[in-house]
Amino acid sequence: MYKILLMGPQGSGKGTQAKRLSERFGIPTFAMGQLLRDEITSGSELGKKASEYMNKGFLVTDEMAIEVLKKRLNQLDTKEGYILDGYPRNEGQYHEFSFETPTHVIVVEIPREESLKRISGRLTCSSCGAIYAMKDGYQVGDACACSGKLMQRDDETPEAVSRRLDIYENETKPIIQKYEDQGVVHHIDGMGTVEEIQERILEVIK
Ligand code: AMP
Repeated sequence: MYKILLMGPQGSGKGTQAKRLSERFGIPTFAMGQLLRDEITSGSELGKKASEYMNKGFLVTDEMAIEVLKKRLNQLDTKEGYILDGYPRNEGQYHEFSFETPTHVIVVEIPREESLKRISGRLTCSSCGAIYAMKDGYQVGDACACSGKLMQRDDETPEAVSRRLDIYENETKPIIQKYEDQGVVHHIDGMGTVEEIQERILEVIK
């Protein structure tokens, strides 16, 4: 059974890779950022609180994050495995998550300048969370394949992106080291085509 954690800086293409792996292995994938955005859309109390942190590019509290994650992990479709994108991201979350044993921690690496470049040209579907690139000719307000509308996220301003990358460097990287000690980490070069990166990931999962 695969319990795969996907890590890497913003814009590393984790979401795209997660979706492909999910189709290939027939297991669900979910991103913490999207689960939290779904809470905001639902208008829940947790969503209201979470949005104050998220809009500025800060992590939500560990309590909010674990609540949302446990709710998702309790759904039956995760019993045969899953791909989790964006959790844990700091030491507190690493300890909270000790009830699970990941089979693989895949770290998709790209340089900081590349993250900034990719994210500032990124559009997200407000319904399903799919990602589109402005360089491919998409604009705010265009329709997604699911018929939702494309938008630019509040936390994708240069200041917010820079803050999110700092959090990745300072808080998330140290916990990758902890998984390293468990022998489950695979570093993947995130530069290249979607197919090339997929191949690199499949090689280490086999
Ligand atoms: P992402 O799209 O993965 O960059 O996530 C968007 C935002 O969701 C982040 O900037 C955080 O505000 C929040 N978020 C996502 N994952 C976590 C997490 N594990 N812990 C706390 N906040 C998170």
